[in-house]
Amino acid sequence: MAKAICVYCQTEFKIIKTGAYVIDMFLQPPQPYKIWSADVWGCPRCGKQIVQGFGSKPLYEHFEENFKENLDRILGSKNEDDWVLFNYEKPVDFIMADDSFIQKMKEIFKEAKHPVFGGLNILQKGGDFQ
Ligand SMILES: [Zn+2]
Repeated sequence: MAKAICVYCQTEFKIIKTGAYVIDMFLQPPQPYKIWSADVWGCPRCGKQIVQGFGSKPLYEHFEENFKENLDRILGSKNEDDWVLFNYEKPVDFIMADDSFIQKMKEIFKEAKHPVFGGLNILQKGGDFQ
């Protein structure tokens, strides 16, 4: 089992969530292209979190026949144990997403009960979504 140490606190990270969904995004405007299962680790002292423990292969890839159905199922899950995170692969100050994509994401996440991290507040640039 891998271990990780917080540089700031010199303390071992602990697993706080196994099997979180991580959606890799590419292109501009960003599009989902791979969905992974991975673990979220947190520093018990400062609360910083990282994602690691990715499998050797993604669960789903964009060229696969039912990628969209799986993406919609994950994004629309009502299960609060289904964590969803986004990976933009490189730092961005802001991301220009087209309006239809943002609107679709807002509609999906409006009903979602699970935690969603990162994607929309970056996409929306100060909108009312979090
Ligand atoms: Zn720490």
